[in-house]
Amino acid sequence: MMMNLSTSISTPKLVTTISQMRVETSVTRRAGVKIGLVPTMGALHEGHLSLVRASKAECGLTVVSIFVNPTQFGPNEDFAKYPRTLDNDLKLLASCGADVAFAPEASEMYRPDRGATVDVGEVAEPLEGAFRPGHFRGVGTVVLKLFNIVQPDVAFFGQKDFQQVQVVRRMAADLNVPVDVRICPIVREPDGLAMSSRNRYLSPAARCRALVLSKSLKRAGELVQQGQRNAAVILAEMRSVIETAEDARIDYIALVDPETFRPVETVAGPTLAALAVKIENTRLIDNCLL
Ligand code: AMP
Repeated sequence: MMMNLSTSISTPKLVTTISQMRVETSVTRRAGVKIGLVPTMGALHEGHLSLVRASKAECGLTVVSIFVNPTQFGPNEDFAKYPRTLDNDLKLLASCGADVAFAPEASEMYRPDRGATVDVGEVAEPLEGAFRPGHFRGVGTVVLKLFNIVQPDVAFFGQKDFQQVQVVRRMAADLNVPVDVRICPIVREPDGLAMSSRNRYLSPAARCRALVLSKSLKRAGELVQQGQRNAAVILAEMRSVIETAEDARIDYIALVDPETFRPVETVAGPTLAALAVKIENTRLIDNCLL
């Protein structure tokens, strides 16, 4: 019988139950094939696809999870309106050759009487942790669940959510989860805006004002290149760039140690410049390593 190979290779298999997901990966694992996992909340864009390509380059089987995780959203956040675009996501995944899309319902992932959660400790406290109480408990818990369900050899995360990667790394190291956690570069629009599923909330005018985030990080990089080491001076410059957008509301602008997330006073070693700013009520984050 003739097989249409191009279709069978490029269309990801849609899996919605944990038991079926375990079957998919256990067969592959027994065959000695390396398994890569790309956890996402869907509404996929080039940033997500770059992680899929990184997994494809390294692993024989690439699983992409698509799950808008309720436990990482605060009560006043955008869980209900978060974009859900499964059909389009599957097309995009087909275009880059993902093997399995794991898209469970919340009722499949969470038992009604659940109690256990993951508490990651100090790296989860400042910045995103301070402005989104409980966020990293939700992230740590769902990522550990995904690691236990898929049992990947390697998991791929974006630098866009730098603190999230460090939270996941700590969780995996401290709880002895045998997964290599890889961090992939931030994918940006040609004008510098970091790609994000939330960018689609922005009106065209707000989309323009949102460029202050990447501009402010660029300015920080320039200052450091020119020899500026005083964190207070760099932060003040970053703030003044952000404030050129009249409706910008700053959650934080920070220069921190990229391992501990403690603030630095002097840029002496590797330093993470990170910010979270609301533009037109849409909360955007961005960062760069100085
Ligand atoms: P999300 O769907 O927002 O939970 O993101 C899923 C994964 O994609 C996370 O590891 C993010 O850091 C990563 N990601 C999101 N946006 C980008 C981007 N612009 N560049 C690289 N990775 C990204």
